[in-house]
Amino acid sequence: MKNLVVGAGFSGATIANLIATQLDEEVVIIDKKDHIAGNCFDYRDENGIMIHKYGSHIFHTKSEKVWAYLKQFTDFNTYMHKVVGYLDGIEAQIPFNFNTLYQVFPKTMAKNLEEKLLDNFAYNTKVPILEFQKQDDDDLKYLANYVYEKIFLHYTTKQWGVPPKDVDGAVTARVPVYLSKDNRYFQDKYQGIPLEGYTKVVEKMLDHKNIEVRLNTEFKDVDASKFDRIFYTGPIDEYFNYKFGQLPYRSVNFKFETHNKEYYQSNACVNYPCNYDFTRIHEYKYYLGDKSEKTVIAKEYSEFFELGKNERYYPIPKDENTVLYNKYLEETKKLDNVYFLGRLGDYKYYDMDKAILRAIELFEEVCK
Ligand code: UDP
Repeated sequence: MKNLVVGAGFSGATIANLIATQLDEEVVIIDKKDHIAGNCFDYRDENGIMIHKYGSHIFHTKSEKVWAYLKQFTDFNTYMHKVVGYLDGIEAQIPFNFNTLYQVFPKTMAKNLEEKLLDNFAYNTKVPILEFQKQDDDDLKYLANYVYEKIFLHYTTKQWGVPPKDVDGAVTARVPVYLSKDNRYFQDKYQGIPLEGYTKVVEKMLDHKNIEVRLNTEFKDVDASKFDRIFYTGPIDEYFNYKFGQLPYRSVNFKFETHNKEYYQSNACVNYPCNYDFTRIHEYKYYLGDKSEKTVIAKEYSEFFELGKNERYYPIPKDENTVLYNKYLEETKKLDNVYFLGRLGDYKYYDMDKAILRAIELFEEVCK
């Protein structure tokens, strides 16, 4: 069997790797960009700092299967992501937790709120902000409004173009109010940054005699009829020439700056939920502990995706978009041996581990 994989990000690289190694079949993998690894692409710059070109990528998973799979290609450091938010002059932990409470309020006030929270919620629970706002107690109502206003309202409006109530609840629930003292952004058992970067991981996944990588190559440049199976990780609406209309996405614009000092900020990622027009600042040297007298940061600005102008980053989870996506999904059922996967192929807000798991499961379903 001859296989074509469209897109050399984690989804495409996983399916290509599994077909080549488990089935001993030939795979051609194409990407329209001039590099592999999709939006996980990273590179060392002239200062020796590993830059995540498309924004910070922190690997985290609960899945033993995904972890074991990736460990074939890389070791990880023990970096566990923490985020601080700049909340009107105070740097405090995000997600909002008991430590944040004491960082932003005077001690007696924080203590009172802490006790009320413990009376109302089990310790270590995660409560989505839209749920957390449903409070009867006046003090907790005040707290909920504070968290909503300072952490969610303006960030979400910058990031999605609409306030939290108009964004699918699952999106804001990714960063809950956390009734805990755990400052980590993720609670997954396995977390870390690949020691030689993400691009190297994908390079190793694709380094196989059965795999041919073709960069700067669009799907339309390839004679698809020469292949027995096609795995398409590009945008599903583009595959069908937008016949039902375009699926909307959010895009991101990174403004990079190099500074002549060792560190720019206190943490790898500082969110600006209620100040400025960027959402967050990434400082890349933190991820692998790179040593340099200089430091590189990126300010992240969110914007709508426009065809031909910028890149797709985030599918927008919303009922009307799901209806449109489902129309395309119906069309895929009329095709033989063409399979869709990945953030763009499935139109789903996958984290890296979920994209890899989806590719592994699709492989098991289709190729076994
Ligand atoms: N969010 C927010 N304030 C923050 C962090 C996150 O309002 O300080 C909301 C926002 O809507 C965001 C969502 O939570 O899009 C998910 O955040 P996450 O950090 O998981 O997004 P990603 O890293 O995937 O962009």
